[in-house]
Amino acid sequence: MDIFLSADDRRFRDEVRTFLATALTPELRRAGRRARSVFHEPDISLAWQRILHTRGWVAPDWPVAHGGTGWTEVQRYIFAAECARANAPSLAPMGLKMVAPVIMHYGSDAQKNFYLPRILSGEDYWCQGFSEPGAGSDLANLGLRAVPDGTDYVLNGSKIWTTHAHHANRMFCLVRTGSHGKPQSGITFLLLDMASPGITVKPIITLAGDHELNQVFFDDVRVPQANRLGAENDGWSVAKYLLAFERGGRYAPALRVTLNQLRAAAHDEGLTSDPDIALGLGRLAAEVDALQSQELQALVGGRAGDAALLPSMLKILGTEISQRLDELALLIAGPAAFPTVLDAAPDHVAVAMPRYLNDRAASIYAGSNEIQRDIIARMLLGRS
Ligand SMILES: Cc1cc2nc3c(=O)[nH]c(=O)nc-3n(C[C@H](O)[C@H](O)[C@H](O)COP(=O)(O)OP(=O)(O)OC[C@H]3O[C@@H](n4cnc5c(N)ncnc54)[C@H](O)[C@@H]3O)c2cc1C
Repeated sequence: MDIFLSADDRRFRDEVRTFLATALTPELRRAGRRARSVFHEPDISLAWQRILHTRGWVAPDWPVAHGGTGWTEVQRYIFAAECARANAPSLAPMGLKMVAPVIMHYGSDAQKNFYLPRILSGEDYWCQGFSEPGAGSDLANLGLRAVPDGTDYVLNGSKIWTTHAHHANRMFCLVRTGSHGKPQSGITFLLLDMASPGITVKPIITLAGDHELNQVFFDDVRVPQANRLGAENDGWSVAKYLLAFERGGRYAPALRVTLNQLRAAAHDEGLTSDPDIALGLGRLAAEVDALQSQELQALVGGRAGDAALLPSMLKILGTEISQRLDELALLIAGPAAFPTVLDAAPDHVAVAMPRYLNDRAASIYAGSNEIQRDIIARMLLGRS
């Protein structure tokens, strides 16, 4: 990436490096190196968020008026790359990257003033209540009912696969308020307090044995109508706006770090001349380079006509390369990666199996890769 950087950008990169060298504690770096999935537990991610908040660097993508940094696109990419390189833990995206831009766009002044500072500071921890049993890819089929009653809505139904609902104190949520016309036209977008009476959160344990996911049940839950974003029955427009932020385009920096870690691990294990491992490392190096060049092209505007395709393209490439890296990591770690007691194992062994298992979901969440391929095909073939 260095050859693309101007002298100013190099200075900026050095400033970020200097900051990370002192701000990241050994515990945070270790947690970053040993991440079992894209999500960290809030004790880790919020500890890092508070440090970034103090420095004013917690939300580089936000407008300055709301607490953003005012960096250029290239500087934001450099920041993400340097954080990955320094093994910084990831921040939960549901508040900072997903609901915040929507609040900025659709929220009233009162909603902006209340929610945005709490998202920046980490005082509020959000979860995303979109999917339901029977409404995942076919999201418009969702059926959690919200019936107006006085100044509230009364909610009944359930949400599923809700990441970190057991940690969150707030949820942004799609509910059914109308049943006439197209299914998309009867959906409303609500912000709700997870402490509201009538909400029950039940764990779903992942293949890796982790508790990240939940099913959330709503039993006569009252949500003030003032917590609506956008107009009643127009939640589909709000959700589409949000989904564009969910499928971001900065996969390559973290994938490159993993690739470099695997190179070092292969070297340590004396496996660099193993043909399967050498070929795998070479192939993945080329794939990460190609992805990074796509991401950098996107930063400078890309080719005309690509902009709408890019989130879907990058989501497919980023998640599938990460799954291939996981497969190679297992090959390098060998039988030692079998989940027994991994605490004392070297980093590359300890994370190989949990990452492999958790990343199987990467091609499913944020809109499955099959759905992304449908979106690309529809755009390229010019059908709506
Ligand atoms: C780890 C994880 C975390 C998640 N976190 C959240 C969260 O926090 N909040 C939330 O709301 N949701 C979350 N989800 C849910 C996620 O958005 C859905 O799983 C996803 O949209 C797919 O929906 P589904 O599981 O109902 O599968 P389905 O929609 O039933 O799909 C099953 C299979 O059929 C394929 N398929 C479906 N329709 C088509 C089609 N038209 N063309 C081609 N293939 C198709 C899919 O690609 C998939 O392979 C999470 C999921 C996972 C796995």
